Amino acid sequence: MIDNKNSSLDEEASNIFLKNNINPDIKQKVILTPSEKFENCKNIGDVYELVKETVERVIGSRRAGLTLYLADLPMNIGGLHQIGSNSIVMNRTLLKAIESMAKSKNDVNSFTYFILLHEYLHALGYAEEEKVRELTYYITVSSFGKGHFTTKLSKMGFAYILKQISHVPGEEGKIEIVKDFDRSSMSYIG
Ligand SMILES: [Zn+2]
Repeated sequence: MIDNKNSSLDEEASNIFLKNNINPDIKQKVILTPSEKFENCKNIGDVYELVKETVERVIGSRRAGLTLYLADLPMNIGGLHQIGSNSIVMNRTLLKAIESMAKSKNDVNSFTYFILLHEYLHALGYAEEEKVRELTYYITVSSFGKGHFTTKLSKMGFAYILKQISHVPGEEGKIEIVKDFDRSSMSYIG
C-alpha cells in the first residue's frame, strides 16, 4: 500500500521538477544512456538511483521508501533484504574489501550495483534466488551491454566476487544509514 502511494508521489515530484527547472533544450542534453550515467556515479547513493532507474526501464517496476544501511556482516553475505521490511543492508566489510582490491571506481561501482540490484529485486517481491539471478543478468545486459563489467559480474555471480577478495578488513563499526539513499522520497519530503 505504502509502495503504491510513494511511487505515485515520486512521479508527481519528478514531473514537477522537469516542468519547472529544465527547459526543453537542456532536457534533451541531459538524457544520458545508462552506461554514461554509470560512469557518472560518485557514491553508493548514485549507484542506487541507477539501480532503480534501470530496473524501471527494463522491467517496469519501482519501489520507493527503502532505506539503505551499511553494516559489518560475514563475508559470504553481500547484502540483505528481509521480506516485508523497508530496508536493504549492504555489507560494509565486503564493500571495504572490494574498495581495497578494485582497480577503479567503476569496478567498485559495478560490485555495488550488482549487490544493490540483487537486494532491490528481493525488495520488489522476487523471493527466489534463481529468478533474481536471471533478472539481474537481464537488467544489466539490457542496460549496459554484454561487455560491461557489471554484466560480467551478473553472469559470474556472487561466488566470483568472493574469489577476488584476498584481504578482509578487520575493524568493526556501528550500523550506518546512508542518508541520501532514497532521494525520490527525500526530495518529496524536503
Ligand atoms: Zn538473494
